[in-house]
Parts: sequence; C-alpha cells; structure tokens
Amino acid sequence: MTSKCIFCEIPAERIHFESEFWVVVRDGFPVSPGHTLIIPKRHVNDYFEINKDEHISLQSVITIAKDDLDKELSPDGYNIGINCGEAAGQTVFHLHIHLIPRFNGDREDPKGGVRWVLPDKADYWSE
Ligand code: 5GP
Ligand code: ZN
Repeated sequence: MTSKCIFCEIPAERIHFESEFWVVVRDGFPVSPGHTLIIPKRHVNDYFEINKDEHISLQSVITIAKDDLDKELSPDGYNIGINCGEAAGQTVFHLHIHLIPRFNGDREDPKGGVRWVLPDKADYWSE
C-alpha cells in the first residue's frame, strides 16, 4: 500500500513516542483528555492488514502508551477501539488504535462502553 494520508505524514513534534513499527500521538479532536492514537508507520487501511512483526510489537506499544497516560492523567479506565471500514465508522483509512482514557463521572452511566457503537442494542442488562 503506497497511498499517502495524514497519518503517513505526522509532524515530528506531534509524535508522543515511537517504536520500530508504530507511532503514538494524541488525537487531534480528543473525546477525552489524553485520547491517544497508536498508528503503524506503514500505511495499511485497517487492523486486518498488519503483518506479524507489527502485530507482535503492538502489545508493548499499547502498554507503554497506557503507562504514560496512567502517569500523566491517572484515568479510572480505558476504552480501546479500532474502527475497521466505513460501515464501522472509520474516517481515516490508515489504521489507528484509539486508546481512550476514561474518568469516573465522565458520562452519567458508562455501562456498556464500546457496545454503544450501536445504541439500540447496547443495553442488555436492563431487562
Ligand atoms: P476514525 O473515525 O477513523 O476511527 O478516527 C479518526 C481519528 O483521527 C479521529 O479520532 C480524529 O479526531 C483523528 N484525527 C483526524 N485528523 C487528525 C489530525 O490531523 N491529527 C490527529 N492527531 N488526529 C486526527
Ligand atoms: Zn497513511
């Protein structure tokens, strides 16, 4: 994949840290304080296109990003999310993993978390 995009050309000063295969940046339009994106250096459209080396190295990058957020912001929880494809809500077609810090009280009832991508079906516990 050779197409260029905003995540192929992240300004150096925006990079929080990087590893051999990944860069970590703060989201430009954060949904919560510290909203972070973990982005492969190689342009791939979505999660299912990463190779074995990228896959293996991802775990430690996510952990480092999480440890940094713990130190900086002490969140109470996290959502980790990947939108794969337009139908799933993806808007930038270069893989990025959302690491979203969550804080007690940041929404009235957080129960269900990522299930709310489809609001009509999110609540399975009320009845
Ligand atoms: P998607 O909807 O594709 O999962 O998420 C795209 C994400 O990219 C959004 O959370 C959006 O805020 C973020 N974003 C869009 N443009 C920029 C940018 O120029 N810089 C950064 N850091 N994030 C961006
Ligand atoms: Zn790209």
